[in-house]
Amino acid sequence: MDKREIVIIGAGPSGLKAAEILANNKKDVLVLERRPIIGDKVCAGGLTRNALKFNIPDSILQRKFNKMRVSYKNKKSYIKTDSTFIATVDRKDLGKWMASNAKKQGAEIKTNVNVNNIRNNFIRTDKGKIYFKYLIGADGSNSILRKHLGLKTTKILEAFHYVLNKQVKDIQIYFDVERFGPAYAWVFPYKNSVSIGTGADSRYRLKANDVKKNLDEWCTEMGYDIKKASLKACPINYDYRGHEFGNKFLTGDAAGFSSGLTGEGIYFAMLSGIDVANKILDKKYDCKNIKHILKVKRFEERILRTLEISKSITKIEYNLLVNMIKFSWFDKKLTGMID
Ligand SMILES: Cc1cc2nc3c(=O)[nH]c(=O)nc-3n(C[C@H](O)[C@H](O)[C@H](O)COP(=O)(O)OP(=O)(O)OC[C@H]3O[C@@H](n4cnc5c(N)ncnc54)[C@H](O)[C@@H]3O)c2cc1C
Repeated sequence: MDKREIVIIGAGPSGLKAAEILANNKKDVLVLERRPIIGDKVCAGGLTRNALKFNIPDSILQRKFNKMRVSYKNKKSYIKTDSTFIATVDRKDLGKWMASNAKKQGAEIKTNVNVNNIRNNFIRTDKGKIYFKYLIGADGSNSILRKHLGLKTTKILEAFHYVLNKQVKDIQIYFDVERFGPAYAWVFPYKNSVSIGTGADSRYRLKANDVKKNLDEWCTEMGYDIKKASLKACPINYDYRGHEFGNKFLTGDAAGFSSGLTGEGIYFAMLSGIDVANKILDKKYDCKNIKHILKVKRFEERILRTLEISKSITKIEYNLLVNMIKFSWFDKKLTGMID
């Protein structure tokens, strides 16, 4: 009979961070990942400077930027900082690095194992049954543990992107209310390629299919040749409804920790992985990272509500944002808010 102290479903950033901490504290940890390659996930791989505080080595970063172009229609401004403000990473490289950190501490990671059923103290996988004392669902936006717990998910961003083999100089975000609603389109350059994408929450104004068509149209206008590229999509769950359920925990996208405003999720996944691991180690642990994420999410909800009031108000807000970035005091305030 396979019996483990802690089983983690999913080897994304949240599961691997939790595994590293638990194993470092001499816990018996097993991570199960259904994919053959860790990190092979649809994602633009943008890391804000908060995420970079996790000592992610420069050697795995694709590009580092200390300025970002922000455009509204044909107006553009640059957010500028003295040090790296945002970087890009190939998620497979990030996965490899995080998996090696977890393994170094003694965690066991098994790939090609799909968890397909959850009971109170055991799971069934396509390779057999495993008993656990604690179970962590770090299994992303379509989490099987979240479904088992009966949690609803209504706040979902359908995010999609093209990866083109093209070198692009600047990292960029574009606002265009007619095309992308309250969301933005991004251009995230890597060394020899670039991710171009956007996201849509179909509950508001524009449906995901319309946004996809608008992205294609916009790419063509901007001179990005998407004819040979395939559009890759994945949901981002930002509907937080709890993370601790007796001996079962949710982290990252499974818990809905991602940002509904920007789609950023890697940093929040790591932060929540840290807290859930510490909570298992010490029942009295104060989940300060999770409290911080929830505070950010409450603030973002307020912004989202103002963006959703009407198209004309959103246009005014984005127009104002791009104009205000030209003032260095506002630029500093904006980048400070990210910290
Ligand atoms: C198009 C797109 C662009 C994005 N761009 C960015 C960005 O630039 N920056 C950013 O910070 N965030 C971005 N995100 C969000 C980011 O990808 C997620 O927030 C982040 O990956 C969440 O990490 P996680 O560990 O919670 O889950 P995931 O990274 O989704 O990892 C979950 C893992 O669980 C595995 N799994 C799932 N079910 C099972 C099962 N039943 N059995 C075994 N294994 C299972 C999956 O294979 C996966 O490896 C983007 C998302 C999308 C869709």
